[in-house]
Amino acid sequence: MAFDAHAHAGEFTEDAFVASASTDEYETLLPFPHRALGSIAEGGMQPDLCILRKAAAEGFHIGEIGLDRRYGGMEEQKKIFAAALSIAREYGRAAVIHIVKEYHTAAEILRTSGHRKILIHGFTGSAETARELISLGAVISLSPRAERTKSFRSLLALPFVTETDMMTGEDQRRTLSEWNARLSEMTGIDVEKRTVMIMQELLG
Ligand SMILES: [Zn+2]
Repeated sequence: MAFDAHAHAGEFTEDAFVASASTDEYETLLPFPHRALGSIAEGGMQPDLCILRKAAAEGFHIGEIGLDRRYGGMEEQKKIFAAALSIAREYGRAAVIHIVKEYHTAAEILRTSGHRKILIHGFTGSAETARELISLGAVISLSPRAERTKSFRSLLALPFVTETDMMTGEDQRRTLSEWNARLSEMTGIDVEKRTVMIMQELLG
C-alpha cells in the first residue's frame, strides 16, 4: 500500500496527503482524510490567515505555505509564512512547506517557530540543507524532479519520503509506484513502506 506524501486534489483517495496553494480549495479538499489548506500564490495573503485558522480548528493540516522568490514581496511572504506556521503549531497540525531558492531563510523561520511537524515538499536543495532541516524536525519529500538536481545521489542516504505533486488519480498512482520502485532499487530500502511509516507519524 503506497502513500503519496504530497499531491493535489483530484480523485478521492485516502492514500495521499493532498495540499493546496490557495484557500479557494477549502470545499474541494473537505472529503480527503489527509488534507492541508494553504496560501502561497503571489506570496500568500493576509486575509487567508483567518481561513487557515478556521481550517486548522476543523482538522485541516496547513500548507502549502512557504517562500517563493519568483513571486517577490519577500518581507510580506516571511510574515505570512511565520504566522501560518504558528497556526499549525497552535493546533498541532502538520505544515507543508514549499520553498523556491529560499532554503536558508525558511530554515531560520522554522527554527524560530519551534514547530516540528513539518513536511518539506519537492525538496531540491543540497544534502547539507536537507540535514539542517531534518535536525529542525522536518521530513524531506522527494518528487521525480529531484533526480535532476546535483544533490540527488547524496539525498538518497537521508530518510526522505516520496511524492508526485500531481492531481490524485491513475497517472499519479502510476508515477508514484514507478518512483518508489526506482528509489527502492537505488537505495536497497523499501521506500514505499518507509514513506507510509514516516507519514503515519507526521499526520497521526
Ligand atoms: Zn504541490
